[in-house]
Amino acid sequence: MDAPVLDYMQRYRFKKLVLCNDSDSGLRAVIAIHSTALGPATGGTRMWTYPSEQDAIMDALRLARGMTYKYAAAGLDLGGGKAVIIGDPKRDKSEALLRAFGRMVDQLGGEFQTGEDVGTTLADMEVIYSETDHVVTLPVHCGGAGDISSATALGSVQATRACLKRAFGSPDLRGRRVALQGLGAVGSSALQMLAGQGAEVVVCDVDEEKVAEAVSAYGVKSVAPEEIYDQDVDVFGPYALGGVINPGTVPRLRARVVAGSANNIFADEARDAALLDARGIVYAVDYIANSGGTILDTDRLRKGGLQRERAMADVRRIYERIEEVFALADEQRVSAYVAANRLAEARIAALERVRLLGWAR
Ligand code: NAD
Repeated sequence: MDAPVLDYMQRYRFKKLVLCNDSDSGLRAVIAIHSTALGPATGGTRMWTYPSEQDAIMDALRLARGMTYKYAAAGLDLGGGKAVIIGDPKRDKSEALLRAFGRMVDQLGGEFQTGEDVGTTLADMEVIYSETDHVVTLPVHCGGAGDISSATALGSVQATRACLKRAFGSPDLRGRRVALQGLGAVGSSALQMLAGQGAEVVVCDVDEEKVAEAVSAYGVKSVAPEEIYDQDVDVFGPYALGGVINPGTVPRLRARVVAGSANNIFADEARDAALLDARGIVYAVDYIANSGGTILDTDRLRKGGLQRERAMADVRRIYERIEEVFALADEQRVSAYVAANRLAEARIAALERVRLLGWAR
């Protein structure tokens, strides 16, 4: 990225970028705050080695902006933010470093709150929580929701059903054939739900042990990871990596629906969404389909604290949110991902006005 950081921030309406340094613990971190229009800027803390500081800053900025859209589209009252700690999580992480980071988050006074992400764990969040209250994802013994992967899976399955309705006229999974890529925390939970609702699932994972477990537990068929795109199925379910929908894979798909939990399924959003549209393949916008875990995780910030029933009812509503996206896409003759972005922007603009009214009173 050549453009200076502040130009980028101006173009995409960022609020703030905080550079953090603690020479004693070795902490070098970036906190990007994109928007607080709907609520406190919220986003995970990623710990990663970056080729340059500029790469770390740009990663934090891009991810923070993505969170603004994700929360707005998921109906959550949260703004978009993201933190990046520069370093190797296996080598450079220490209690002192995490606590120093917690102090930095605390000094923002609630404008930013965080959770686990690539390179950080729930246990790390517990350490950060010892320095600041502004931590969202926490283990159950700290008052958090604990493991959220089954809520993410439920949301993804709801999104799949909404796509089936659009593609085939019925959301019913019974007898539908699904190719499921990735049997990790979310994929294995989704498999249980899909198989439980009568879908015929074919699975793959690079981890052979996970494949063997799935085959013995559900009697499903398995294929080599590279063959998953070629299956004669109704649904392709990405539950592993990003970037799997691209010019190399779309022509191979025989599914009428693409829906799963993976983040950033398109290698290039505009180009690859157009490829699916051109083939008449219905897809669930990833950041809505995979918002179930976040909905459960952040329920503790709502009135009365964590209420699982309320949260899971919201997760089930992902079905309606995906339908809303399709309705807007049809009305405005745009791709589903453009429609999802517009829904998010409209919600932010509308609620900003409500808040302005509040100030005026
Ligand atoms: P995970 O690490 O538990 O599982 C990922 C699985 O994918 C692993 O079993 C891994 O072996 C497998 N895998 C990796 N490369 C593969 C390949 N080429 N082909 C087939 N399988 C492969 O992760 P997870 O928590 O289950 O998350 C899955 C996806 O959903 C990720 O993209 C994640 O960002 C996204 N997501 C997860 C959550 C959540 O609640 N955990 C929330 C939102 C989004």
